[in-house]
Amino acid sequence: MIAPRDRLRVAVQKSGRLAEASLSLLGRAGLAFRASRDRLFLYGENLPIDVLLVRDDDIPGLLVEGSCELGIVGRNVLEEYRLGAPAGAALPAERQALGFGGCRLSLAAPDGGAIASIGDLDGLRIATSYPALVGDWLARNGIRADVVVLNGSVEIAPRLGKADAICDLVSSGATLAANQLHEIDTILRSEAVLAAGPLPQTGLRAEQIERLCARIEGARSSDGARLLMMQAPRTALAAITRLLPMRESPSVLSLDGLPDDIAVQALCNGALDWQHLEDLKRLGARGLMVLNVERMLA
Ligand code: ATP
Ligand code: ZN
Repeated sequence: MIAPRDRLRVAVQKSGRLAEASLSLLGRAGLAFRASRDRLFLYGENLPIDVLLVRDDDIPGLLVEGSCELGIVGRNVLEEYRLGAPAGAALPAERQALGFGGCRLSLAAPDGGAIASIGDLDGLRIATSYPALVGDWLARNGIRADVVVLNGSVEIAPRLGKADAICDLVSSGATLAANQLHEIDTILRSEAVLAAGPLPQTGLRAEQIERLCARIEGARSSDGARLLMMQAPRTALAAITRLLPMRESPSVLSLDGLPDDIAVQALCNGALDWQHLEDLKRLGARGLMVLNVERMLA
């Protein structure tokens, strides 16, 4: 146990893909900081909230230990920790999705090889830095494959003969293409999330946490909102809902004379990208339209 503190602590990535956007979000939530000399801490100047600058992989553990109350981390890192923890362990939890750092954890196989779909993975080796997420996905899909854990350069594993397929984070797909790999399935859609530790909070501390979460939500509600409109087969609605980074439940309308189809309007966050639209088309959606939202009043 650590000594009680009167100031709230938020852990964010020290350097890397999430670092700048995380601090920018806290700034838009009204926090002002001064850096410590060792650059491990940012002292909150206008509120009793400090920022801990750490490696992203350390954030779930810091939340569980109580070294910080909140953290900004990729859902991929949070879910890997949650799935990899022993049964009954106290777990950090996602409080809100933050709409940046969008990527997907995807299975990919060598171009021109024998693996065309997920069923072909049976009995093969999959290289990944996400063994818990991949293991969970394999179990859920009834596939028996060996998971080879690598902590970097996962995409070259097939060429080195270390694995037959990989599971890694993808955003544009350029790294996969450069390594003659193609995606066969997505196992997790990720973005940066605000995560909270498992310790019950009370009194002033609980109020501080709720206040910061509300401010972050407020800062977020004005940025990146997009209205996605489409027509789709009624049977695809559940899959569409799972796929999209939606800010609220979609509106679903019936179409005159087309009983098997629906029109869907979904308010999405800034994570909505081309890949989502292509995935929707694959689910049978058509007439896709994305409109930037100028103003909103809840
Ligand atoms: P650290 O030094 O903090 O351990 P890292 O090398 O593990 O950094 P980054 O590469 O900075 O991490 O990625 C941080 C997070 O950014 C990822 O966990 C993921 O959520 C997100 N991300 C977004 N797009 C990508 C991408 N194309 N590849 C990898 N991560 C991505
Ligand atoms: Zn990391």
